[in-house]
Amino acid sequence: MINDTDFVTAFIGLGSNLDQPAEQLVTARQTIAALPNIEETGFSSLYRNPPMGPQDQPDYVNAVMAIKTSLPAIDLLHQLQAVEQSQGRVRTGERWGARTLDLDLLLYGDRQIEVPDLTVPHIGIAERAFVLYPLYEIAPDLSIPGFGKLTNLIAKCPKNDLHRLP
Ligand code: ATP
Ligand code: MG
Ligand code: MG
Repeated sequence: MINDTDFVTAFIGLGSNLDQPAEQLVTARQTIAALPNIEETGFSSLYRNPPMGPQDQPDYVNAVMAIKTSLPAIDLLHQLQAVEQSQGRVRTGERWGARTLDLDLLLYGDRQIEVPDLTVPHIGIAERAFVLYPLYEIAPDLSIPGFGKLTNLIAKCPKNDLHRLP
C-alpha cells in the first residue's frame, strides 16, 4: 500500500501490433500492476486503431492505464522500458515501426517535464485519438498541463478509424 502523501497519479499509454497484441497489453498490465511502488487505479477498454506512420504494418491495439506511484518519473520510465524489453520489444530504428509493446508515460500528476529522455505530457497526447478516447474513458474530468481540458482536446480530435473492442 502506497502512502497517500507520497504518490502521484500517472497515466500510461499501451500499444502493440505484433504477436497477439491484445494479450501483450494484458500481460503488460499485470506486470506493471505488480511492480513495487505502483498500484493500478484504472484501465480503459482496448481499442483497435490503424498504424501511425508506416502503413505496411498491422493495426494496433491501444489502451490507457492509470496508476498511483511513489516512483520519480524517470524511474517510472525506466521501469516501463524494462517491461517493453521483457516482452520482446526490438528497436529497429524505424520511427513508429511495428512492435510487440510500446509503453508511453502520458502524464505524471500535473507535472511538465522536459529532460533529454523524457517529455511529459507525452509529445503526441493532444492529437492522438488512440490516447485521448481511452484516457477520457477512465478520467473524463482530466486537465492536461499545457494543453487544457481533455474534453476540449477530444472535441478537436476526430475518432476516425478508432474502434473500441468488445
Ligand atoms: P512516440 O513517442 O511518438 O509515441 P514511440 O513510442 O514509438 O513514439 P519510442 O521508440 O517508444 O517512441 O521511444 C523513443 C524515445 O522517447 C525513448 O527513448 C524515450 O526516452 C523517449 N521519451 C520521451 N518522452 C517519453 C515519454 N513521455 N514516454 C515514453 N518515452 C519517452
Ligand atoms: Mg508511442
Ligand atoms: Mg514509446
